[in-house]
Amino acid sequence: MIHVVGAGLAGSEIAFQLSNRGYDVFLHEMRPTVESGVHKSAKFAELVCSNSLKSLDASRNASGLLKKELEKLGSFVLKVARKHSIPGGRALVVDREAFSEEITETLESSPHVVVKREEVKSIPRDEDIWVIASGPATSDELYKWLEKEFGKGAHFFDAVAPVVLAESIDMSKAFFANRYEEGKDYLNCPMEKEEYIAFREALIHAEVLPIEGFDRKLLFSRCQPIEEIARSGVDAMRYGPLRPVGLSKNGKRYYAVVQLRRDNSVGSLYNLVGFQTRLKWPEQERIIHMIPGLERAKVVRYGVMHANVYLEPFGIMDNYFRAKKDKRIFFAGQITGVEGYVESVASGFFVALNLIRILNGKKPITLPKKTMIGALLDYVSRTPNLNPMYANFGLLKKDEAEELPSFEELLLED
Ligand SMILES: Cc1cc2nc3c(=O)[nH]c(=O)nc-3n(C[C@H](O)[C@H](O)[C@H](O)COP(=O)(O)OP(=O)(O)OC[C@H]3O[C@@H](n4cnc5c(N)ncnc54)[C@H](O)[C@@H]3O)c2cc1C
Repeated sequence: MIHVVGAGLAGSEIAFQLSNRGYDVFLHEMRPTVESGVHKSAKFAELVCSNSLKSLDASRNASGLLKKELEKLGSFVLKVARKHSIPGGRALVVDREAFSEEITETLESSPHVVVKREEVKSIPRDEDIWVIASGPATSDELYKWLEKEFGKGAHFFDAVAPVVLAESIDMSKAFFANRYEEGKDYLNCPMEKEEYIAFREALIHAEVLPIEGFDRKLLFSRCQPIEEIARSGVDAMRYGPLRPVGLSKNGKRYYAVVQLRRDNSVGSLYNLVGFQTRLKWPEQERIIHMIPGLERAKVVRYGVMHANVYLEPFGIMDNYFRAKKDKRIFFAGQITGVEGYVESVASGFFVALNLIRILNGKKPITLPKKTMIGALLDYVSRTPNLNPMYANFGLLKKDEAEELPSFEELLLED
């Protein structure tokens, strides 16, 4: 019997690939019985922060290439993401509710999936195969057990951006435009210089929520809280998430622009792009209300910060993300040190592929290193003192990328 711990991005991909081929799976999900601190619903594959799965451009963007490879392999999660995509320029942006709803329904209605809404606190010493895909917000008890059993635990800090109600946005100030291209996928709240300076001042002095063990050095570089970006220099936000380049209204350019991205297909909700934060909630309201166009914005989801845990695979897992000391136990998703939604799906897909091979009497395989998925997983499994890693063209040179074989070819490979 196969057990998957965690019905997140990685766990849902694994449960689908196995059950779709007729293998029975126990899918253990602790929500809603035990809350994770970052998820808001009881649904599977919840996107905890941005609803963007990043670029679809496979020729110029590493995340785009990773998605192309996963789609070729037949990723279930990406197929559902495509189905529930909403306008987002060149990015794959999804209606998060509809996306999670369909993944949950598909798995809950599968005759080969038994969903167990319970927290797994340790892995029993039985004959079964266990995949730990419990993610960056693994429950304390399970994480303690993992550290005790395997050692090498680590963490870093990541934050979530707030969401506001569309009808509360002042459209006499905000305008629709995509950066550098035609389209009306993003809402833009422009700022003049004085507004920007006052906004930054307020932001750097606003009260933040104290977080146990918080250390600025442990912030994830690609997802810094907005108040930390603001603190790092007067212009830091203007060259970061508030950059005005490529955005104008009737030819007028602005000093800074806050972008909002559609959060659902009906367009009733918008999230503030790059505004992940750990400000106290009343402070978030106050600061958001300083943005032109958002003076009366109704915040329906506040930003939060969370410690992301992971185990460093080097030394404790083999190249197939299988525990060296107990070959029944596999790891998938962000707990292995991959970072990001699509990267977690990729990691889940890889483990599912090898489980199917093993169940068919074949040895596990690694993936070609000149593919984005192969390069990412190779890096993560073999790097000592790993910092979480996302798909990028530093792992694989763009012009050296090779075509990935199909899933069936990978299943049959000797
Ligand atoms: C605050 C925050 C913001 C982020 N923002 C972004 C972003 O904007 N873009 C991006 O690409 N990535 C982002 N990430 C990273 C992204 O969330 C993760 O990479 C991705 O969701 C990880 O997928 P996963 O399947 O490994 O874990 P998850 O999707 O988190 O799934 C793990 C599941 O395991 C369950 N679980 C945990 N412990 C147990 C247990 N003991 N027993 C049973 N079930 C358990 C959880 O409830 C959860 O459903 C963010 C992460 C955090 C924490």
